[in-house]
Amino acid sequence: NRIVETGYTPEDSEVENPLRPRTFSEYIGQDKVKENLKIFIEAAKSRKEPLDHVLLYGPPGLGKTTLAGIVANEMGVNLRITSGPAIEKPGDLAALLTNLSPGDVLFIDEVHRLPRTVEEILYPAMEDYALDIITGKGQMAASYHLPLPHFTLIGATTRAGQLSAPLRDRFGVVLRLELYSPEELGKIVLRSAGLLHTEIEADGALEIASRSRGTPRIANRLLKRVRDFAQVMSEGVVTYHTAQIALDRLEVDELGLDSSDRRMLAAIIQNYAGGPVGLDTLAAAIGEEAITIEDVNEPYLMQIGFLTRTPRGRCATAAAYLHLGLPVPPALRG
Ligand code: ADP
Repeated sequence: NRIVETGYTPEDSEVENPLRPRTFSEYIGQDKVKENLKIFIEAAKSRKEPLDHVLLYGPPGLGKTTLAGIVANEMGVNLRITSGPAIEKPGDLAALLTNLSPGDVLFIDEVHRLPRTVEEILYPAMEDYALDIITGKGQMAASYHLPLPHFTLIGATTRAGQLSAPLRDRFGVVLRLELYSPEELGKIVLRSAGLLHTEIEADGALEIASRSRGTPRIANRLLKRVRDFAQVMSEGVVTYHTAQIALDRLEVDELGLDSSDRRMLAAIIQNYAGGPVGLDTLAAAIGEEAITIEDVNEPYLMQIGFLTRTPRGRCATAAAYLHLGLPVPPALRG
């Protein structure tokens, strides 16, 4: 159970999360994505048509579900939230789609995990707003053509490459979310502290931000933990000093790495001479799931220049050696 885990935890209580921005103006950062979406929304509204289907991709916790909510809000329609693994059979999808009102947004998280049989009936639903369902077998077989309301599908996935090509091709708009800068996360922390009625100093917010590995969900979670320390240590005010002590206690280091990241880098350096080492070998060596390494550890370690990915495997950089206090091998000195 990592404090820097990017997945949902019950504490995030995602649906009724008061920290979740409801409008573009509350949504900090991701300027390119926001500008594009605003234009597509305005165009769709002036044509009085639903928005084209949108695929959002990027590491977990960056605000994909939040954006879907904002889009629905701006379009003045309902949002239905589900996920790839939750739609087990074509009938499940049919039930969801037939219950939509015209223009509604259906958000499918982890859309790359839809079962193949479901994906196949999703194609005509996205393209022609119709479902073709076959029931029974042999002589008893019957096919139904079910018209659907015009809806907008917003799919989310961690990596666009995980999607099958036919599914990817059916999204008119494909947008990539980037990790946030410490300054952007600092603004998010200040905003969240306000909503939580927590007093916070600017450098306290920046300290939390710079240890949140580019991810708003982590920034909010760290803020809540630091707030507990502040309550006891500094009369409820989140100062730079309290933030530092609290985050050190939570074993999130000054760059936002936790013990799993440090174990991973140490394994590459000490067991595999700095790499390259394959993903599965690495996962086994540190007792972590390969998917967690790819979705949680790697994007951030690559962004801060601690890790490179080559066709032959992962390699630690000189900066990673220095961060762990290990001597940089001659080949990496530059
Ligand atoms: P994803 O769907 O990509 O996993 P979410 O949309 O659930 O991520 O976002 C995680 C949390 O981070 C949300 O609850 C929200 O409070 C916060 N958040 C995400 N993006 C932003 C942003 N741009 N500005 C402010 N808060 C954000």
